[in-house]
Amino acid sequence: MSVTCNTIRSQESGDNLEFLHKEISQWRENPSQKIEYAPKKETIFLSGGLTLLQDKLIESALNSLGIHYISLPNPNFASFQTGKAFGNRGQCNPTYFTVGNLVKYLQKLRDEQGISAEEIVKKYVYVTAGGCGPCRFGMYITEYKKALRDAGFEGLRITTFEHNKGIYQGEDIDDALIEYTPTFFITLIKAVIIGDIINILGYKMRPYELQAGSVDRAIEECRTLVSDAFFQKKSLLKTMWKCRTILEGIKLNRLQPKAKVMVMGEFWAAMTEGDGNYNLHRFLEAEGAECIPQPIINRLMLSLWEAEQKLYQSETLQTESTGTMDFSNVKSRVMLKAGKAAVKLYFTLYAKAIGLHDYHIPDIDKLANYSKSYYTLECEAGEGHLEVAHLVESVKENLAHLVISVKPFGCMPSSSVSDGIQSLVTARFPEANFLAIETSGEGAANFHSRVQMALFKAKQAAKEEFEALKIPAYIPQKVHNYLYQPTNAKAGSAARLIESL
Ligand code: SF4
Repeated sequence: MSVTCNTIRSQESGDNLEFLHKEISQWRENPSQKIEYAPKKETIFLSGGLTLLQDKLIESALNSLGIHYISLPNPNFASFQTGKAFGNRGQCNPTYFTVGNLVKYLQKLRDEQGISAEEIVKKYVYVTAGGCGPCRFGMYITEYKKALRDAGFEGLRITTFEHNKGIYQGEDIDDALIEYTPTFFITLIKAVIIGDIINILGYKMRPYELQAGSVDRAIEECRTLVSDAFFQKKSLLKTMWKCRTILEGIKLNRLQPKAKVMVMGEFWAAMTEGDGNYNLHRFLEAEGAECIPQPIINRLMLSLWEAEQKLYQSETLQTESTGTMDFSNVKSRVMLKAGKAAVKLYFTLYAKAIGLHDYHIPDIDKLANYSKSYYTLECEAGEGHLEVAHLVESVKENLAHLVISVKPFGCMPSSSVSDGIQSLVTARFPEANFLAIETSGEGAANFHSRVQMALFKAKQAAKEEFEALKIPAYIPQKVHNYLYQPTNAKAGSAARLIESL
């Protein structure tokens, strides 16, 4: 490794403050030897770490554009251990899981497929999320590079997309490897949105299935249909309509009063479906609960909202300081509005086609209003004000019997900021059943037992809510059809259905 940066004070420099007077240069971590990378057409992209379904759909969507892209397998405990072995101490849980998952995959290519480490470094590129933080997120790329170097893959290229800045192809990448055209983004967004919609329906239906595994099998069938539609450039709208027929075939008993649990918190910990959060969603379902997951579209809408707020703030500053109107942001404003409108349009069309009627894309302005008296809206780290907003929303709109905020151990924005504020929220709304819980990769027994304790109260609440209702003598068959999705003031799905009659 060669590092060039003259403004970092080394431990050996003692009291010598000479570095303060040097011209500032940027930190660069370059491979120790020059690497002749493979040409663009031979380059293979790796990524992953979203939900299982979305990872697979994104792979199909990007392959359909001619991009050689592979979604890595779901990160598991072995990935975490590999991440710990090659990563620095004190990193966030998602880094250990995702870095370890990448190293584990590359080791497998080397040891089982006989591809040399040199060839892997030349051909493969890892795509990941990045950002300046202000938490440890800003260190992710450096962490990846360190772990890759120590694992024998020094120089493997990394390209990032930053949730608030766009795409950074990486300093080791001379030519743009992926052409980020409108088609690329639209295809990618469609895969994410369809994944969100099918996931939401899966979480609504699985707890009530009469035949264990029937929802998962149906979702797998839908995934195959959507993947084929991407490859064969068929209508995704018609495909979603076909998925509706598949889902309609599942037998449900929706009149079981189950605790409804909203799972939110730090983006990765709340979204991942595996060892990264001790399989929280499946654990809750096995314990007799129904989960409200956090779709990826929520994070996307927050990023767009944050970008709009920044434009507004810079325009206001310009007007206040110079007394003139600032029109330099008009193009960006139009782009953001168009982006938001496109996301909403695709979501609405696909949701209607498959039969998801009662889910609405989050209104970030409304959520900001809920949280603004608790949380500084300009503070963007992690999920920003969303965690606080979700808890307030859940109480005010009676959306769940329990809200779990899950986050990696010591997560700066989530544990240190949002959870600190949540104690004020729960003091003002004593009826809130709220559990903030951290994951560290180890300690599953402790984690599950805390969830069980909070769930006990939630189950009682669901039962009482249901038993307080007058059950009609005649129950129409439509209540067991997933397409019947009434909305009213009840939190539990069974209570909501009875109330609607
Ligand atoms: S949001 Fe939390 S888990 Fe994610 S990088 Fe920041 S500190 Fe780490």
